[in-house]
Amino acid sequence: MIYNTLLSVDKKDKLLFCPNCRNSEFDSDGCYCKICGKPRVNFCADEAHRNCGRQNRPNARYCEYCGSKTVFFLAGFLTPWKDVPEKEKTEDPSQENVTFEPVVPEDDLPF
Ligand SMILES: [Zn+2]
Ligand SMILES: [Zn+2]
Repeated sequence: MIYNTLLSVDKKDKLLFCPNCRNSEFDSDGCYCKICGKPRVNFCADEAHRNCGRQNRPNARYCEYCGSKTVFFLAGFLTPWKDVPEKEKTEDPSQENVTFEPVVPEDDLPF
């Protein structure tokens, strides 16, 4: 399953417009919205103070490295996964043909 995000980002996963105030004028090196102060890059919020703070993909609700909430999730840019509408989810095509067939060893048949 892929959780898509409606947030548009550039090649470095930085927001191209601010979902909060709709500002779209950014310095390419900037990490925050200069109009409302919301984050532009989905950093780990590091609530557990593990010195993480790593950058996550724009659809990450939780940090992939330490499990803390991300700044996009805290800012309200992303909905909790249970509230994500079906249209914002797609099956992962690379997982389509994966089946889990039980392996029966031929020598172990009881008859
Ligand atoms: Zn803003
Ligand atoms: Zn983290």
